Formats: sequence, C-alpha cells, structure tokens
Amino acid sequence: MNYHKFETVIVGAGGAGLMAALYASRGAQTAVISKLYPTRSHTGAAQGGIGAALGNMEEDHPEWHAFDTVKGSDYLADQDAVELMTAMAPEIVFELEHMGLPFDRTPEGKIAQRRFGGHTNNRTGKPVMRACHAADRTGHMILQTLYQQCIKNNVTFFDEFQVMDLLINEVEGRVVGVVAYEIATGELHVFHAKSVLFATGGWGRVWEVTSNAATLTGDGAAIAFRRGIPLEDMEFFQFHPTGIYKLGILITEGVRGEGGVLINNEGERFMNRYAPTVKDLASRDVVSRAIYLEIRAGRGINGQNYVYLDVRPETVNKYFAEDGVQGPDGKPKQVTAEYLLKKLPDIIDFCKTYLGIDPMQEPMPVQPTAHYAMGGIPTNIYGEVVIDEQNTVLPGFYAAGETACVSVHGANRLGTNSLLDIVVFGKLAGQRMAEFARANDWAPLPQETWEPTQAMLDRIRNSRGKERAARLREELRRLMMDNVGVFRTEALLNDALTKIRELKERYQHIAIDDKGKTFNQDLIEAWEVANLLDIAEVTTVSALARRESRGAHYREDYPQRDDEQWLKHTLAYRQPDGCIQLRYKPVVITKWQPKERVY
Ligand SMILES: Cc1cc2nc3c(=O)[nH]c(=O)nc-3n(C[C@H](O)[C@H](O)[C@H](O)COP(=O)(O)OP(=O)(O)OC[C@H]3O[C@@H](n4cnc5c(N)ncnc54)[C@H](O)[C@@H]3O)c2cc1C
Repeated sequence: MNYHKFETVIVGAGGAGLMAALYASRGAQTAVISKLYPTRSHTGAAQGGIGAALGNMEEDHPEWHAFDTVKGSDYLADQDAVELMTAMAPEIVFELEHMGLPFDRTPEGKIAQRRFGGHTNNRTGKPVMRACHAADRTGHMILQTLYQQCIKNNVTFFDEFQVMDLLINEVEGRVVGVVAYEIATGELHVFHAKSVLFATGGWGRVWEVTSNAATLTGDGAAIAFRRGIPLEDMEFFQFHPTGIYKLGILITEGVRGEGGVLINNEGERFMNRYAPTVKDLASRDVVSRAIYLEIRAGRGINGQNYVYLDVRPETVNKYFAEDGVQGPDGKPKQVTAEYLLKKLPDIIDFCKTYLGIDPMQEPMPVQPTAHYAMGGIPTNIYGEVVIDEQNTVLPGFYAAGETACVSVHGANRLGTNSLLDIVVFGKLAGQRMAEFARANDWAPLPQETWEPTQAMLDRIRNSRGKERAARLREELRRLMMDNVGVFRTEALLNDALTKIRELKERYQHIAIDDKGKTFNQDLIEAWEVANLLDIAEVTTVSALARRESRGAHYREDYPQRDDEQWLKHTLAYRQPDGCIQLRYKPVVITKWQPKERVY
C-alpha cells in the first residue's frame, strides 16, 4: 500500500483545481491528483472567452454582468454568489494578465472584448462586449498559465492517478483523504489530508451528442454522492446550440459574438422571431429550443436535424447593417475574412478538418450538443461543501469548478461565466483550505481506506458476466439524448428511469477482457460507466420531480416557470438502500425579484 500525506489534496488539474492549488500552496503543503496530464484537462478546450465587465470597448458595469447572470439563470442562481463573482471578475482577469496570459488586445493595448450570448447593456437590452479572449483558445491559455504558476510554487503533481473514493472520519465528521488508482501500475494509493477539494469537471458524456471530452464522466460528483453527500440542481444540464452536426464538437458562441447568424432551410435568420432584441445572442437554453422547434417544423436543412451557422463575411456585414451594429468609428461595423481568421482560427481549422468546409466560404451544419452541468456538489462561496437545507459545512471537504454548484449559474449558464467561475471560486476555495490547514490538526484516517476500492475493482476484474460496459454506456447515452434532453415530459422521464435501472442491473453482470495491471483502460472505463449511470439516474429523478420549465429544464407538460412552487434548489441524496431522496433549499435573492424572461 502506498501512503501519502499532504495538508491539502486537490483532485483535478483543470482551471478550478490549478487556481485552488496555487492559492492553497501559499499556505499549506499541496498535492494535485489528476487522471489526465494537467494541461489535457477540458478547460484547455474552452474557446470563446472569460466574462468581466472591464468596459474596455464600451460602457459596462459589474452590476450589469450580475443582472444578466441572474436573468440567464432563470432566477435560480444565488444572487449573493453572483454579485461576488461578477464584482471580482475585473481584478481576476487582471491577475491572469499579470501572470502572463496573452489576451487579445485593442489597438491602444487594452484587453480586447467581444459580445456573447445573454450579456447585455442593461439600459438598451442590446448585446455588450464583455468576453475577454485569447483568439478562440482562451481556456488553453488559462490552463497553461496556471500550470506554470503551480510548478513555480512547488505544487506536487500526481499525474494519471484516478481518484476512486473519498475518505471520511465519521467520528469527527471530517473528510480526511482520498483513494487513488495509479493508471500506469494498477496500484492503489491512500492520500491522507487535512482537507480535500474536488475539481473534477463535468459529465457531458452522459449524453450521446456532446462537446465534452471522453474523460468527463462525473467521477467527483458520483464519488461524493455514493458517500452520502447531496447533489444540487442536477436536472439542469445545458445544451449548447452550436455543436458540429452529429459530432457534437463545439463551435464557440464567439462565432455569433463576432456576427455569425443561425439560418434555417428557408434561408431565414430565425432567431429574429424567438428573441427580437438580442436575436442570435439570446441565452443558450432559448437558442437550443429555437433550433429544435425549427427542425420539428420541418425547417431543418435538407429535412435533417440541423441548421446552418453562417459566419461568412458578406452575411455578417449584411446583418450588422440590418441590426445597426457600429464600429468604434461610429460607422456600420464591417468584418473581413482576414479579421475573422484572426479571431476564430481554431474554429475555422476544426471545420476544415472534421467537415471539409471552409466557414469563410460555406455555412456550418450545427445542432445542439450536451455541454455544461449547472448542478453538482453544493458549496458556499468559499468552496466549502454544504450538505443540507441549512447549508451546514462538512469540514475538510471542498469543491470548485464545473463539478460544484455554488450556485452562480442556476438553471442556465451564460457563456464565459464558467471560466470566470473556475478561477474565482478556485481562488476562494484555495485560500480557505490554506486557512483550514493552519487552524486544524490532522484527523486520523478511518479504519478502512483502500479496501472497499480494491474489492470493487476485483469484482469487475474477476466477473465472468456477459455484458460489456461500453455497450451499456452507448445505450445509456442514446437514451438520455432521446428522453432527458432539451425537451422532457413525464412519460419520457419515467421511461428513462425504468431503463436506467435496467442498465444498472445489467451493469452487475459486466466483464472486462484486459485483466492486467498496466494502463488498464478497460477497467477504468468500466468504473466510469458506473459513474455515468449514477449521474443519469439522479438527473432523471430530479427532472421528474420538477413540474415546471426553467432555464435548461424544459417540461413540455409543464411549459411555464412556476416561482410559487419551484423557486428552490433541488438536493438529491442517496439513501443507504440505494434509493434517491429529494429535498429542497431556498434560493438566495438579494436585489432582483423574478421577472418574466425575454430577450
Ligand atoms: C469545448 C468547450 C468549450 C468551452 N468554452 C468555454 C468558454 O469559452 N467560456 C467559458 O466560460 N466556458 C467554456 N466552457 C466550459 C468550461 O471550459 C468548463 O466548464 C471548465 O473549464 C471546467 O473546468 P474545471 O476545472 O471545473 O474542470 P476540467 O477542466 O474539466 O478539469 C477536470 C479535471 O479533473 C480531473 N479528474 C476528473 N476525474 C478525476 C478522477 N476521478 N481522478 C483524478 N482526476 C480527475 C481531470 O484529470 C481534469 O484535470 C467550454 C467547455 C467545452 C467543453
């Protein structure tokens, strides 16, 4: 058995984990455990930008950013957390800049900004330029910058170690460590810690068409859930409107921010009808539903399940003129292919590679793609995990980033707000963990540490069943796409739940072919499928109970938002018998009473 001792242990090396590690390491010995080499984390795939009301291009205010976020969340976000995040946004963007992040610049040398869905001038309701970006590689730059800073600060990294369990000292009611599987050797490692942070990212792989990397299987959320920690607002999962047709690969909203428009088979820019003020830059839930409604009405391209995203310069310039969009000189704004190539190099490259299409010459075929988890492990603004309606803290346990639910995104996240969320709450959590390490002594490990994980892995290794995990995974992903996607009904959700439970039963009879110890991907993926199944079940149970439509959760049988009954967060608990219990906690409202949401 391999034993390690660090004051703070951070699981996950995306933006949230690295920012937390950077700050924790200033006051405590810190280790980061990551199943991926750190710079391969999904944060590196983020394209469009990070939101901050710098006002570099036009008038803007953190308070406008806060209101847009609350409205975008369909009033489910906790407003104290939103106000804090948007107020901290400018300073944290400058902090990243000072660490060396190469943002795009204006001719005067300020950080350049562009428009993004749901971000508006609060007086006119028109889109505002708030997204700070480094071409369409913003997340890549954030990840590289933070990784370098962590190395400089002597953070210890355990790369390609997969955490499989959370260790709780039940007597003291404290989280005291994790168990990790070393991918290269198949050995288990026990990490003893004063505190643990989960920053394990999202779980888009629950759905068939997704923008998420293959590793986003919700490990952290599933581990916590199995240890009795609730998951919050799991029914809210965002579909991004513009994934490449069939592949799901993301085409950043930055394309529409730079002037791209959505077009149906009649050549119509249909968002005019659904969101007359902000049009193609409405919130993602609104645009994704609009695309599906067009497809249902027979206006998909060639009668298929996709529409066009058109960013050809002549199209962009035509609609800029129609919308009265002005450049800095007050004249109608105009773009050239050369300019777009500089702003969207990777997108143009993806399209050439995966579709054989040059977006400067032809429109791109797009469909909504499963993208972002609004729900997750409940935390307060310091990243401390809270486990009930009274927000009682579970000492020693922290979560940040996509796997956490603060909640700043409520029922629907605005673009650019996740990169902001991960650095803001990663930082606050890291600072808190360093303080916790100073103020608290070590608590002993529980009696059993690695044994349950070993037993679980042995069960998978030695089983002689007929089922294959990969098969179950593909069935699950198709089911979730059809039944628990953009549109939901009681019948679809009930059917999904029955089938998920059948899949869970069949999972008991899986077998794997690779019985070895080194780089046993077969074994790891089989374990990950168990996580997908648990996450799918909680999502469906939470969605079935919520009889209203809000943000990304759209119930065709209950199409209205119902604030009287449902202005509250869901908390889903796994009971010792495996059943799921739902409880609810109030939404924090500071300034903005719920209003009808129109764009
Ligand atoms: C294609 C794409 C484009 C996006 N563009 C934008 C954008 O422009 N702006 C924006 O604001 N947001 C964007 N997002 C969303 C945003 O990038 C993510 O929500 C955010 O980066 C998540 O960061 P994270 O640190 O929480 O997790 P991630 O970056 O996903 O990192 C997760 C980490 O956890 C580790 N991990 C997971 N499970 C385990 C385990 N069991 N054991 C050990 N380690 C584990 C992984 O190795 C990894 O290091 C985009 C997302 C995608 C998919």
